[in-house]
Amino acid sequence: MKTGAFDTFSTDLLIIGGGAAGCFAALKAREAGVRNILVVDKGHVGKSGCATFGAGSFKGFIPGEDPYEIWFGKAVEAGCYMNDQDWTQAHLNEVYERVKELESWGVEFERNPDGSYRRIEGQGSSDLRPIKTLMFHGPQLMHQLRRTLVRRGIPIMDRVMVTHLLHARGRPGVISGALGFHLESGGQRVFLSKTTILTSGGQSYKSPYAFHKMVTGDGHIMALEAGAELSNYEFTLHHLSYAGFDTTGMNVLQGLGGTFLNGLGESFMEKYDPEHGSRANLNTISAAMAMEVKEGRGPIHMDFSGYTRDSLDLLKRVLPIFHRAFTRAGLIRDDRIAPRLEWMSVNSGNVGFGGGVRINLSCETNLEGLLAAGDATSGPAAGVEGFCAYAIPFATTSGARAGLQAAARIKRIKNHYAIGLSELRQKGMDLSRPLLRSRGVEPDVLTLRVQEILFPMGTYLLRHGDRLRKGTEEVADLKANLLPLLKAYDPHYLRMALEAKNMLLCAECFLKAALAREESRGSHLREDFPFSENGHWLKWIILRQPDEKLKLREEPIPIHRFPLRPSVDRVKHPIIEANERYH
Ligand SMILES: Cc1cc2nc3c(=O)[nH]c(=O)nc-3n(C[C@H](O)[C@H](O)[C@H](O)COP(=O)(O)OP(=O)(O)OC[C@H]3O[C@@H](n4cnc5c(N)ncnc54)[C@H](O)[C@@H]3O)c2cc1C
Repeated sequence: MKTGAFDTFSTDLLIIGGGAAGCFAALKAREAGVRNILVVDKGHVGKSGCATFGAGSFKGFIPGEDPYEIWFGKAVEAGCYMNDQDWTQAHLNEVYERVKELESWGVEFERNPDGSYRRIEGQGSSDLRPIKTLMFHGPQLMHQLRRTLVRRGIPIMDRVMVTHLLHARGRPGVISGALGFHLESGGQRVFLSKTTILTSGGQSYKSPYAFHKMVTGDGHIMALEAGAELSNYEFTLHHLSYAGFDTTGMNVLQGLGGTFLNGLGESFMEKYDPEHGSRANLNTISAAMAMEVKEGRGPIHMDFSGYTRDSLDLLKRVLPIFHRAFTRAGLIRDDRIAPRLEWMSVNSGNVGFGGGVRINLSCETNLEGLLAAGDATSGPAAGVEGFCAYAIPFATTSGARAGLQAAARIKRIKNHYAIGLSELRQKGMDLSRPLLRSRGVEPDVLTLRVQEILFPMGTYLLRHGDRLRKGTEEVADLKANLLPLLKAYDPHYLRMALEAKNMLLCAECFLKAALAREESRGSHLREDFPFSENGHWLKWIILRQPDEKLKLREEPIPIHRFPLRPSVDRVKHPIIEANERYH
């Protein structure tokens, strides 16, 4: 159908983003009887999204085999009590069903000769409290999900970037569609939907970690601009990568016995996290690396000397992209991997966990008709970095929940709400504005400026109010002076311009939330506020944008009704404490 300048598509259920969460949402909605579904993705479903490059690790709790108390306890402990513990429980209860579904759709998990799952003990596992990780065969996961969608006749629209959510006419609290454009033709497309699920992933800031440059917080910003709430934005993923080129696969690399060494050749992680050592979680390792470097004991290396031929065979099956890249670079040769390689921390935004759209247990946002799942959300099951309830496993459980909830809603709704035409026209004009400018700046300029603000260690890793404040001032300057000058030559540049805009606005959310939280907690390590203040700060910071201005409020976590609570009111951040103890 064509209405004015827009191609218009009408569907019962619109799913924005066809990664693991989006595919699960579509498949579960179809199972629950929704006939009319459309999955729209700015890439190619099956070859886009972080799960396509998933590093083969799936932290799936297996009932009857794994100790629930340890999994739940570690999820909340590493979540630093920022979890919605109802969500953590729901996730653990449901994740094994999702594993079985993946297998039934053709995704292979590593198995032992006797048929049992072969599992490694990677990040967050310890001899005292083991957490075992299932391993799937890398890119196969998204390939099989696309195949399953196609087999079930669920339509997919590739290469369309969704840019705005549309409200029901005269009802600012209700979403009834979305606007986007085709990345080749540039044609604008309008989607009318009874229910919309946002599964467009997190915000990677296009950082030097591998394979996530397509997630640029588009969903976070379109939701915020439409009136939805974000939370957890101060908590970020501090990933780790080989210093020579963008890498992936930390959980498996740690699980196979990779250890971290400082410039003196010492294995230093035991000082900072005696229980987990080199299998600590990512923000702990990143902060410990930073402390070692600050104390003059850099650079940091990953030691692979314990790797065997069997380790490399496993890498080849589970992490084929990693294996190929390291082989091509000459770092894997004759079935051996280089014994030591320089390693570094990277700010990977909120991929896997950290800030995003706030949802309840049914994946509903505060806007009627808008649900969210996966990395598009604030990761309520995981809190700060609750690695037992994050990333791909959470994308599957939350995607499934969102699909079922959408199906229930669609059954209740007879007709589409009409969208407001003046809103549509206005947003259509906003969308094409960079194409109309003949003079201005290219998107890369803004992308680079945002990265220059966010990537220094003193901003994302070892934070301080002065530096965060300076960052917010720089962002405000870019918003006022550079953003209005963005220009695009064609639809390809238009995508880059809109991604750069979203990166800038997400940077504002991060810096303002990080400045507001005057304490240290997990990845949020403030040199000027070194204590975790459980007495005051068991609160979520909620972001909203009424009238185009970002507003923050604190909301107490209902910790009194959750099973786990911290035992002390105030405790020094463990990395700062360890650094003071040893140096
Ligand atoms: C290299 C790498 C390796 C990883 N390895 C693991 C692992 O081994 N185990 C694990 O548990 N987790 C892993 N993670 C994290 C995990 O991949 C993510 O947490 C997970 O994929 C999130 O799923 P999702 O469906 O929410 O988002 P994604 O998989 O990121 O999918 C989002 C989709 O939305 C689309 N999209 C984005 N914006 C728009 C827009 N504006 N319009 C239309 N479509 C849009 C994207 O093209 C993409 O297809 C890894 C991440 C990376 C980057």
